[in-house]
Order: sequence, then C-alpha cells, then structure tokens
Amino acid sequence: MRVVLLGPPGAGKGTQAAKLINKYNIPHISTGDIFRKNLKEKTKLGLKAKEYMDKGLLVPDELVVDIVKDRLTEEDCTEGFLLDGFPRTVEQAEALKAEMSKLKISLDGVINIEIKDEILIDRLTNRLVCKKCGATYNAKSNKPKKDNACDVCDGELYI
Ligand SMILES: [Zn+2]
Repeated sequence: MRVVLLGPPGAGKGTQAAKLINKYNIPHISTGDIFRKNLKEKTKLGLKAKEYMDKGLLVPDELVVDIVKDRLTEEDCTEGFLLDGFPRTVEQAEALKAEMSKLKISLDGVINIEIKDEILIDRLTNRLVCKKCGATYNAKSNKPKKDNACDVCDGELYI
C-alpha cells in the first residue's frame, strides 16, 4: 500500500497516519523526520539542504524530492509507505510522480483530509500541548486526567 496523506494541521492527520501504518504495516514517512535525519547524519543531501537553510532560503523542490526518493528506496518501503505532508505543491507532486515511475512504483491512493474551518479553529484553540514530550490533548474533547498536566510525563501543558 503506497499512500500520500494530506491535510491541514489540526485535521487529525497524525491519528489517521498511526491507524494506517498499523493496519498496513508500512513505514510512516514525514519529510520533517527525514530532513532531520539527513541533517543529523550529515548525508550528502542533508549537507546540500543545510546550505539553503543556513542562508534562510527554502530548500528547492528537486532537493526535497531527492531526499524523499532516497528514503523510498530503503528496504522497509518495499511493501509500501505512508507519505505524510508531501508533496506540498503541484511541482513537487509532478516530480514525485516522475521519480516513482523511474523506480517502477506508483501510488495506490491519496487521502486528503478535509475539515470545516470552524471545527479546525475550535480544535486548534482548544489544543493543549505538553511542553516536555509534545503529547497533544483537547481542552474539550480529549482532556488530560489532571488539569494542566500531561498524562504521559506530567509535564506542563500550553495552548
Ligand atoms: Zn508530556
């Protein structure tokens, strides 16, 4: 199963991603994570990306696509993957399509989570995040057990 998952922050992408990767036993690939990994391990692609970031420039699409492509050729991706938050632009989508066809693979689908603005705003304004571990709660629908303390690590929560 090769899927792309799209949607705005607060749409519940993380929750759906966790369900999908468990159900289909595929790796969860977020561009943020692979960027951090490439930077940390100082790979060729990571160092290239760093040059742009150090100058305060956006990393060009081709380089982002190269980094993603590199990740998709790793062994854990042979049965599929869930690509989270990428592509972000039509150009990236086209580049990804071209690279995937070189790898002789194609997507099984794209899931775009749509959510009404009011609901999104409500979720984001009621969203509580743990300062220590980053766990998220909702002041209305998913309250922490203790007021203003994280269930996981007892850290302080902020909105
Ligand atoms: Zn916590």
